[in-house]
Amino acid sequence: MTGVPPKKSLGQNFLVDENIASRIVRSASLTRDDAVVEIGPGQGALTRELAEKAGSVTAIELDERLAGHLKENLGGLPNLQVVSGDALAFPYESLPGKVKVVANLPYYISTPIITKLLGAHDKISSMILMLQKEVAQRITASPGGRDYGYMSVMVQFYAEAEMLFSVPKEAFRPVPKVDSAVVRLNLRKAPEDVSDAVFFERVVSASFSKRRKMLRNSLKNSSVIPPDRFDSLMERLLVSGIDPSRRAETFSLSEFVLMTEILFENRGL
Ligand code: SAM
Repeated sequence: MTGVPPKKSLGQNFLVDENIASRIVRSASLTRDDAVVEIGPGQGALTRELAEKAGSVTAIELDERLAGHLKENLGGLPNLQVVSGDALAFPYESLPGKVKVVANLPYYISTPIITKLLGAHDKISSMILMLQKEVAQRITASPGGRDYGYMSVMVQFYAEAEMLFSVPKEAFRPVPKVDSAVVRLNLRKAPEDVSDAVFFERVVSASFSKRRKMLRNSLKNSSVIPPDRFDSLMERLLVSGIDPSRRAETFSLSEFVLMTEILFENRGL
C-alpha cells in the first residue's frame, strides 16, 4: 500500500490478491528475451514480478503520485523504466522491437487503449489484459451469441482472443462495482488479408450500426456502398454466400473479410 488515496476518476482499483497477480504474470510466459510494456502499474501489484521474469519492463502510469512512488520503491530494479504519462499518448509504433503488453487496465478507457494498441499491432506479440468482465466477454465472443459485435470482430481481426479466467471484485481495493476477467490476445503475424484495413473497419462499423436489423438494412445509406449500386451489390453478396438478410452478429470474421473485399472492389471511386 502506498498510502496515496485512490482516484476513482483514474480507474484506480488496485489488485491486492497476490495469487491472482502471479497468475496474470505467469499467463504472459515471460523469459529474459521479452520486453514488457505494463499500462497502469498503480501500486505495482504486477510490476516487480514482471521485472523479475522479463528482460525489461516499461511501466506507463498517468498518476504522478503513483509513478513517483514506484520509482522510489522499485527504482532498484535495473530493468524497470517507469514512464510518468498517458498510455493513450505513448508512441507504441516507435518501439524498437516487439513487446508483450501486460496490464490491469483502467476500465474507463479500456476500449480506446485496446484500439490504440491494435493500431501498433506489428510491434506487439501478445497482450495479457485484465478487463471488466463484460468487455472481456465481448472481445472473445464467437459469432451468433449476444456478446459478439464490433469489438469482437475488430480485435479478432488482429489477434486470436482467449478468455483465461474471471476475477471477483473482492480481489481489489477499493472494491469496484463490476467483476473482471483476464484475456490473452495473441497478435496474428499477418492480419487477415484485406485490401484496405480502414475500409474493413468502416464495413464492420456500418454492419453493426443497427444491431437487431438485417445486414441489408444496416448497410443501406451507409458510406461503404454507393446508393446507385445498392441492389446489385446486395445480389453480389448473396451469390457469394453472404446473405444480406442475416443479422451482422451471425457473420464470421472470414465472412466480414469477404464482404469487405466485394464492397471495396465496387466502392465507386
Ligand atoms: N496495475 C495495478 C494493479 O493491478 O493493482 C493498477 C491497476 S488500476 C485498475 C489502473 C491504473 O491505471 C491506475 O494506477 C491508474 O492511475 C492508471 N491509469 C489511468 N489512466 C491511465 C492512462 N491514461 N495512462 C496510464 N495509466 C493510467
